[in-house]
Amino acid sequence: MVHHEKPSAFATAEQAPAIAVAWETVAPREALALLQVTATGLSSAEAAARQERFGPNVLPGSKRRSALGRLLDQCNNVLVYTLLAAVAVTLAIGHWLDSAVIIAVVLGNALIGFLQESKAEGALAAVHRMLAQTAAVLRNGRRLALPAADLVPGDVVLLQSGDRVPADVRLLESRGLLIDEAILTGESVPVAKHPAAVAAGHSLGDRTCMAFSGTMVLAGQATAVVVATGQESQLGRVGTLVASVEQPTTPLLRRLSSVGRKLSFGILLFAAAVFGIGLFTGTTTPDELFLAAVGLAVAAIPEGLPAIVSIILAIGVRRMAARGALVRRTAAVESLGSVTVICTDKTGTLTRNELVARTVVTADGSYEVSGDGYRPSGTVHNQRGQAVDISEDQTLRELLAAAVLCNDAEIVERDGSWAAEGDPIEGALLALAAKSGLTASSIRHAHPRLDLVPFESEHRYMATANGSPHATLVSVKGAPERLIELCAFERARCGDQPIDRRRWQERAELLASGGMRVLAIAAARSSQPAVLTGEHLPPTLSLLGLVGFIDPPRPEAILAVSACRRAGIAVKMATGDHAATALAISGEIGLDTTGGVLTGADLSKLSGEALAEAAMRVNVFARVDPSHKLKLVEALQRAGHSVAMTGDGVNDAPALRRADIGVAMGQKGSDAAREAAQMVLVDDNFATIAAAVEQGRVISDNLRKTLAFVLPTNAGEALILVTAILTGMPLPITALQILWINFATAVTLSFALAFDPAERDVMLRRPAKHRARLLDRAMVIRILIISALIAAAAMTLFHLALAAEAPVAVARAVAVNTVVASEIAYLLTIGAIWRRDPAGIRRTNLMVPTTIVAAIIGQLVLTQWRPAADLFGLAPLDVTMWAWVVCAGAVAFVLARLVEIAFRHAAARNERGGMGVGAECRSMARQGGCDGHDL
Ligand code: ADP
Ligand code: MG
Repeated sequence: MVHHEKPSAFATAEQAPAIAVAWETVAPREALALLQVTATGLSSAEAAARQERFGPNVLPGSKRRSALGRLLDQCNNVLVYTLLAAVAVTLAIGHWLDSAVIIAVVLGNALIGFLQESKAEGALAAVHRMLAQTAAVLRNGRRLALPAADLVPGDVVLLQSGDRVPADVRLLESRGLLIDEAILTGESVPVAKHPAAVAAGHSLGDRTCMAFSGTMVLAGQATAVVVATGQESQLGRVGTLVASVEQPTTPLLRRLSSVGRKLSFGILLFAAAVFGIGLFTGTTTPDELFLAAVGLAVAAIPEGLPAIVSIILAIGVRRMAARGALVRRTAAVESLGSVTVICTDKTGTLTRNELVARTVVTADGSYEVSGDGYRPSGTVHNQRGQAVDISEDQTLRELLAAAVLCNDAEIVERDGSWAAEGDPIEGALLALAAKSGLTASSIRHAHPRLDLVPFESEHRYMATANGSPHATLVSVKGAPERLIELCAFERARCGDQPIDRRRWQERAELLASGGMRVLAIAAARSSQPAVLTGEHLPPTLSLLGLVGFIDPPRPEAILAVSACRRAGIAVKMATGDHAATALAISGEIGLDTTGGVLTGADLSKLSGEALAEAAMRVNVFARVDPSHKLKLVEALQRAGHSVAMTGDGVNDAPALRRADIGVAMGQKGSDAAREAAQMVLVDDNFATIAAAVEQGRVISDNLRKTLAFVLPTNAGEALILVTAILTGMPLPITALQILWINFATAVTLSFALAFDPAERDVMLRRPAKHRARLLDRAMVIRILIISALIAAAAMTLFHLALAAEAPVAVARAVAVNTVVASEIAYLLTIGAIWRRDPAGIRRTNLMVPTTIVAAIIGQLVLTQWRPAADLFGLAPLDVTMWAWVVCAGAVAFVLARLVEIAFRHAAARNERGGMGVGAECRSMARQGGCDGHDL
């Protein structure tokens, strides 16, 4: 073969990064040799050199729309078309100046929309970068989690169920590896993979000793060596583009833009009708009337809204990311605000997932373990308080040896503190073994691993076979009920005895009821090669004992649970752990445990009414597997709840997809779970979910506030024009001036509410009704009242000015400034310059004063600076006129404030009085759904 003369795959093409070897045809050992690496992985120096040469392991992203394309997109709306038509007409009748100003404003508006949307997209792209894939790699003989982009050919990687394969790899070892290659081959049946080489000439789907970048590991484990990265991978070669950055769109935004389009056409028709009526009554000249109708369209269409809404959502995504919640789909930002139930994992989410073995029970007696964390210092005492001598205690020694062999973790010291690489429970077992004086590495070295059944949450145990084919040691660890059932014997000083199942169950129960996580450990010796499969363990298994771990609750999770309960959100625990452990921890965390605990097996027996009732009443679900989670989500949703559900494994994906908000764990979560979820927790922490819900509520509030602010401005202006056109009076504000107002306030005032801090009661309110409507009746009424207020103020002052014999340009300047002054007044009643947030901390929104100052400066320049005033058909005002404007603003402030107070009162009465959400929650509370919070 060619590579006998050329022992390195690299030597063939020193310059070109491509490596031309049919990797599926060479044996694993040969592949390693060709790639100049050993099974312990590359050194970091070599990896750096290769990275230099091969470049990062990334696929080209999809092309973003060009800047010009996005700018033009901004002009693709009814309003711009109307304005362009207006330009044509003004040109035809020779109003050059008007045409120029309109064009300038159209361009200005497009630019602002463009900048705002770019900023929103930028925020989302940053979050997506934080979600980048990682891979478990061996470097310098140590297992590391690295960004997948850092992989180079020759890296030895570890694959397990739920991983997305990070590059094209040649398998070295595998157990029960099953891979979904649909993304690459279109084949939806998973492919079983194993390291044996295949003949040359097979198609991708038949190269069973290879795994390809982008495909998904459904089951099993493997080690493999990277043979091709980035564009050189099969996925890179077919030119598949990685999922593009999502456009900042949500159901709300889509609804808004479709309503907006319909509204725009309606307004155009209306403006045309008003134009027709105006012609018929014949009070003004047709060209003036035409401009007035254009003004009406400009006034009524809230063209700036979509850009503002995307900014609000993007700000929300960014704030959540800063707090550790990475939102994968912007829609989640919106749904988070209306979550009514959170179903959460226990281990790592409510607890710290820093396990420490505290108690060991064998048939000979029980032991207490001292020491904290993963630091291997501490002692193991027997019941009389004496430190045990491991060489004297055969049963304990065997138990710990099995714990070390049936184990994929390592404990490492970094900067003076000890951490577990891999599963924390396995790390805790290693620390336990070290405390008793055993050296894990020498035991592992003396008994090389032959076979493995990896831990999966469905069967709840892990098994390994170690030693030599003729003297095999099978070690099993897992959930006590499972193992007690699987064992025929129990090990004691005097040898194997028939197992006393009752006794062991009681011992396990006792440990669990103290809140401990319990693991049983068993072993069997065999003189034949042991066959390990999920259903097939040796019949001679002997139970060695139990280990109880403490996993303290996270203090911040306790606070977050009570915050959620106050906010009317039910918190339910769905854990794979033992019922007694789950119940004990629930009590410590502050969950409502009056409904007792239900196991997954019990849950799966229920259906219909009984299921719905149990799903609502019970808050602690134990020994659940992923299928039970799905069932729970569905039951809660049928009962009308909006459910957030956490998950980490590959099999949790269906439940995560089904939930209103699927929440994946960033640390212990699989790629499969992360991709199915809408939100990923950087720190796996329950408190982060609660914070995201709070932020979701703030965002919904700010969206509604923004609508409540922007819409009356448009409606008020439209009202002014319709009144003037229909009564044949001179226009208080012309089309051009309206364009100015909308343009100036779009960059200033309407922006401020996007940054409004949390209302003090955000987390004291019931959840908003599921899929609450964009505008409810109260809001529409409020918008109408405020519109009328703005219109009345401007028209009154305009006519007062005319009556005082001011020229029309002056009267119009008064009207324009009055509209802006009442907008400022209105903004101050909705938004807050500062406010105490739920924690009582003073939060300022400097955007409110900043934008107000900016708007005032804009108005002063527009009115007092001659050239600008002339351009827009205005004239400078004297101090008296300005005083009028300020007074009008002050009156508007008082009135708007009164309206605000009235509506708040009405809303509060509704909540108490048993209408809407309040009543719904009370009935839920009766069924335990709202945690019995009293109303
Ligand atoms: P949780 O919902 O608390 O994360 P898991 O599904 O991770 O629960 O674990 C369920 C049970 O499986 C645990 O109570 C434990 O008995 C057992 N178990 C957990 N991790 C392992 C492991 N690495 N090896 C063997 N058994 C395990
Ligand atoms: Mg778990």
